[in-house]
Amino acid sequence: MEKIKMTTPLVEMDGDEMTRILWQMIKDELIVPFVDLKTEYYDLGLENRDRTGDQVTVDSAEATKKYGVAVKCATITPNAARVEEYNLKEMWKSPNGTIRAILDGTVFRAPIIVKGIEPYVKTWKKPITLARHAYGDVYKGTEMVIPGPGKVELVYTAEDGSSTSEMVHQFKGAGIVQGMHNLDSSIESFAKSCFQYALDTRQDLWFAAKDTISKKYDHHFKDVFEEIYEKEYRTKFVEAGLTYFYTLIDDAIARVIKSEGGFIWACKNYDGDVMSDLVATAFGSLAMMTSVLVSPQGYYEYEAAHGTVQRHYYQHLKGIETSTNPVATIFAWTGALKKRGELDNLSELVRFAELLEQASTKVIESGRMTKDLALITTLSDVTVLNSGDFIKAIRSELEEIL
Ligand code: NAP
Ligand code: MG
Repeated sequence: MEKIKMTTPLVEMDGDEMTRILWQMIKDELIVPFVDLKTEYYDLGLENRDRTGDQVTVDSAEATKKYGVAVKCATITPNAARVEEYNLKEMWKSPNGTIRAILDGTVFRAPIIVKGIEPYVKTWKKPITLARHAYGDVYKGTEMVIPGPGKVELVYTAEDGSSTSEMVHQFKGAGIVQGMHNLDSSIESFAKSCFQYALDTRQDLWFAAKDTISKKYDHHFKDVFEEIYEKEYRTKFVEAGLTYFYTLIDDAIARVIKSEGGFIWACKNYDGDVMSDLVATAFGSLAMMTSVLVSPQGYYEYEAAHGTVQRHYYQHLKGIETSTNPVATIFAWTGALKKRGELDNLSELVRFAELLEQASTKVIESGRMTKDLALITTLSDVTVLNSGDFIKAIRSELEEIL
């Protein structure tokens, strides 16, 4: 078979540890034999980030702005132990944080659904995509312990020196206080990314907060979403047969649990932190969760939601075969190839990516899977494969359906 042509390169961001090993296997076995792969390669492995003073991370994000679509391998976010392990010049920042700041994007996470890995919630039939706002609120909060009686106020001093204040509490005894903020620019980007992604994936959008209690703060989020929807998106949503609605976060929880899935749930930063772990766990496995960063300008960066699977990597280094699940990383590649194909009008490329996804799920549904899935599957006749054999099984399946 002739290889499928690409016209614009994907931005390829390589990474660390076990996922770096899987990355190469996936390319060698599942992509390069079938696609005339064009990528602009950036090595975000920790050694190269250290060598380049983390410039490579910035360059890869800038390249994403140039080309529009990137695929990223999981990377180490250094801590003190990593600084020692890799003899780093500095404790470099999280690459995901750096890229997100440059692209100003929102992260959308969605489970990969296969028969045999069943959600805990019986009614869920389709993926629920969680969109988490990634700036501010309690994550940039200021806190104070109040030792005894006294007054706490919020004070805003404008640049001209004039000020307004609001009483927080007249303390009669000891207590605690917290101040937090957000920015219109950030909330607007969040809202636009959500509307854009809903249109792209043809899913309804829900946004939930607590404006009945938080009459200014949460209400402002609601207003920003509403304004942008009315101004820029209502017509497009109606044409696409999609709905956007706002509801209270507690009402959203009840609706989510009773739903079939198949929509995007946008959450503020803290709600998104908590709810994304809830949704991921309830769907079955972090190794079956994909993640895409979408900027309000429509740049896309696809990755797996899990980390570099360090424990497996150390086994791999000792020569022990590991059964690390490559599915989320495969889906990062298919997500990126599909998007590239859509943008460049390459229906062959889109079709190839869809068939690779089908081949991956078919292998699992036939009872051949990695160990993490074997532990939770409802299928009875299961063969546990190591990563290499699992990827080879997907390749045979793919060759058959191609
Ligand atoms: P992790 O790599 O997600 O792995 C945690 C555990 O989850 C693993 O030890 C493994 O459990 C299981 N697991 C995760 N992915 C799996 C897969 N594909 N197949 C099978 N099992 C899987 O998280 P971590 O160990 O906390 O973090 C390791 C490194 O990843 C850290 O340096 C962190 O900075 C980085 N990280 C990067 C990203 C990113 O780039 N997006 C995200 C998170 C973490 P068992 O050991 O029980 O088999
Ligand atoms: Mg969390």
